[in-house]
Amino acid sequence: MALDTLTLKELQQKRQSVKNHLANIKGPEAEVVKTELDDVEDMIRIRQDSSRLQRATPAEALLRTAPENGNPPEKIYFFLKQNTGQAVCDDCVARETGVDLATVNTIAGTLALFPAEFRRMAMRCSRDCSHLEKVCTQARQV
Ligand SMILES: [Zn+2]
Repeated sequence: MALDTLTLKELQQKRQSVKNHLANIKGPEAEVVKTELDDVEDMIRIRQDSSRLQRATPAEALLRTAPENGNPPEKIYFFLKQNTGQAVCDDCVARETGVDLATVNTIAGTLALFPAEFRRMAMRCSRDCSHLEKVCTQARQV
């Protein structure tokens, strides 16, 4: 049976039965079974990764593809999410996340491409940094 037709649960059961089988054999046959076990484990990993991505919001899924944790896109994304409902201008996002202003500007502009999740427009910054309206980014309640 092709592995990609199995459910995650079936794959996990298969992994266990292959492991049990492997414990009882040696030599060339064991090598073949080991390869099979690797294939099953790869497929389990792929399934688990894709189910995590399916639960993520679209903007978050995009950021999950970023190379490492704690990078500027993730910092800004999670900062805004933690302050959901609050409009924050780029200056204040830069100050509070430690990311430089030009990068904040680019990333906030990218988040604005997901209007179901983020609003970006001239508003009063929730940080009271200015009495004037500035371009602010605000995470929406999803
Ligand atoms: Zn501000």
